[in-house]
Amino acid sequence: MQVPLLDLKQQYVSMRDEIRATIDDVCDSQYFILGPRVGQFEEDVAAYCATPGACGVSSGSDALLMCLMAEGIGHGDEVITTPYTFFATVGAICRVGATPVFADIDPVTFNIAPAAIEACITSGTKAIIPVHLYGQVADMDPILSIAAEHGLVVIEDACQAIGAEYRGRRAGGMGDYGCFSFFPSKNLGGFGDGGMVVTRDESRAEKLACFRNHGMNPKYYHALIGGNFRLDALQAAVLSIKLRYLDQWSTARADNAADYVDLFEQAGVGDLVQCPAAAEFTTRHIYNQFCVRLPGEHRDAVWQELRDADVGCEVYYPVPLHLQECFRHLGHNAGEFPESERAARETLALPVYPELTHEQRIYVVETLTHLVRQAAG
Ligand SMILES: *Cc1c(COP(=O)(O)O)cnc(C)c1O
Repeated sequence: MQVPLLDLKQQYVSMRDEIRATIDDVCDSQYFILGPRVGQFEEDVAAYCATPGACGVSSGSDALLMCLMAEGIGHGDEVITTPYTFFATVGAICRVGATPVFADIDPVTFNIAPAAIEACITSGTKAIIPVHLYGQVADMDPILSIAAEHGLVVIEDACQAIGAEYRGRRAGGMGDYGCFSFFPSKNLGGFGDGGMVVTRDESRAEKLACFRNHGMNPKYYHALIGGNFRLDALQAAVLSIKLRYLDQWSTARADNAADYVDLFEQAGVGDLVQCPAAAEFTTRHIYNQFCVRLPGEHRDAVWQELRDADVGCEVYYPVPLHLQECFRHLGHNAGEFPESERAARETLALPVYPELTHEQRIYVVETLTHLVRQAAG
């Protein structure tokens, strides 16, 4: 049996006619940048996230960058975030010239630990970027109260968490900004790059709309220095169609995750394979990834053997950001963020995409169980 990590073709085939028709419409209109289709998709996403406004942008990375720019964050400023995230979170902070300050993660959710944030705050701190990794929202209430107490901006990196809920509230709508990515492998993926920023604040929404188009308003008059962070009409048209199916897909992912938990339990592997858990505050986990922990020192070996057995799997992420070569100037050492470093050593993402079958999950569990038992001796 072969089990890919992700199979986007099945999804496409199931909605091919609808997608082709909308692409045809965009081609017939020859209206490719922003315009009514982007406007419609922004309304759809704002409604989905229960925020008044949304601003379509070129990618999740640009969404993060643009929020920092809109807040005027730059040289001399500090932004607190997690070292256990995709590069773009920290890349955005550095690109505006600010300094990333890392707070270690909670080992259960893999998200920034609120208790670690307080110690990072200095007179230079301007913002906190919690990341909702793998589809589970970070513990937002304490983060929001720390931010309120110190006058900090909160930018949610919800790139992996569209539709996820924290105590009944949707990802992206709790902080000052929420950033989403429509990279093809996210739960809502486009036919290329795309992203979105949501915000509850009208003046911020206006500024974002201006920033994404070179800070231009009206045409050829620039009060701000923005950039080209625009979303394509083709992406918006495809994403508007796919958004209608998002809840169904995210529910299927969560069902697959629950089935894995049952199957690993039945396999009796105990602590050799530790399944991800939803925190008590998580009212909806959307499982962009299903990452198990393989404690011990054999994750890399098992990862290779599982791939050899035709099970797609991946490590998100093997090197925590404080140890990346490009951030060496920040002066961090191994051992400084032990939970992030342990997660980087132990986690392995298994296939959890909506169309995955029960038989495929059984194969994944049986194969992995066999391999970890062998590795553990
Ligand atoms: C995917 C992702 C991004 C970047 O999104 P792009 O659209 O690929 O630029 C940022 N942060 C996290 C946590 C992500 O998973």
